[in-house]
Amino acid sequence: MCKYTLTIIKPLAVKNSHVGEVLQMINVDGGFRIAGMKMITLSRQQVKEFYKVHKEKPFFDSLTNFMTSGPVVVAVLEKENAIEEYRKLIGKTDPKEALSGTIRKLYGINIQANCVHGSDTPENAIKEIQFFFSTSEIFDEEGNLIDVSIT
Ligand code: ATP
Ligand code: MG
Repeated sequence: MCKYTLTIIKPLAVKNSHVGEVLQMINVDGGFRIAGMKMITLSRQQVKEFYKVHKEKPFFDSLTNFMTSGPVVVAVLEKENAIEEYRKLIGKTDPKEALSGTIRKLYGINIQANCVHGSDTPENAIKEIQFFFSTSEIFDEEGNLIDVSIT
């Protein structure tokens, strides 16, 4: 069981001023501790690498354009069984199919601009966290630096 997952609050949610509400749902309502967080813009190369499992999909170019269209917020989230718990909190990929009360249902616009990303396996969570964060950017509850790959 993995304690950590990675989320990305996607460009349209940042543009539409939903960062505060989404973080409230994650941190306060959802009980995830925020172990690391920053606002960045992604390069096309970063998006292509991050979403490389989808490189043959018809939506890959469109997804690359979308994910580079403005700043995103990336965060490392901690909770017992974080990956599954977070996928539950965000809901299905298509906001139309997501259960009511989920982040994607509330703030997703369509299947592409679905507000947030969430890691899908422990292996991917660690890889994705290391893709965006160095070991000097992730903290435990006391503020000490942690290495998510060995906890
Ligand atoms: P994520 O990986 O972002 O958490 P997910 O695991 O629910 O989402 P994936 O199948 O991994 O869904 O798709 C990755 C992302 O690609 C989706 O979050 C969405 O932004 C985009 N996407 C997925 N399917 C489509 C589609 N049919 N049309 C357009 N964009 C899509
Ligand atoms: Mg996915």
